[in-house]
Amino acid sequence: MEIALKGLGNDANYWQALGEGRLSLPKCAGCKRWCWPAPFRCSDCGSWDFDWQDVEMAGEVYAWTRVRHPFGGAEALGLPYVVASIALPAANGIRLFGLLEPGDDAAIGLKVAGKVRTNRAFERDVLAISWRPVA
Ligand SMILES: [Zn+2]
Repeated sequence: MEIALKGLGNDANYWQALGEGRLSLPKCAGCKRWCWPAPFRCSDCGSWDFDWQDVEMAGEVYAWTRVRHPFGGAEALGLPYVVASIALPAANGIRLFGLLEPGDDAAIGLKVAGKVRTNRAFERDVLAISWRPVA
């Protein structure tokens, strides 16, 4: 999928990588801290430089919620669906949101693996990460 980077901010590399089926996150070039959301400047050491590194899409559920309300733009997901915050041990525990599919076994600490998917929202395709339980 080709991603238009024009208009994207500090997270343009994240969206570009997702479009290629990868997860890439910024790590401060100064203090080596993983940062998310992608900042324009490191809040710890003040560095303006970041190294974007591929990170394995593997983690565990930090928090989750089952959505039963029909929010505008999310109609294509059907109801209910589960949104989870996933902690990534390969990136010092920083967390990303995504769909947990299936959400039947949702639980804090559940081990998951991610896969890039496309959601239909507001009549356009939007990249997202779908997280699935691993054995
Ligand atoms: Zn830093």
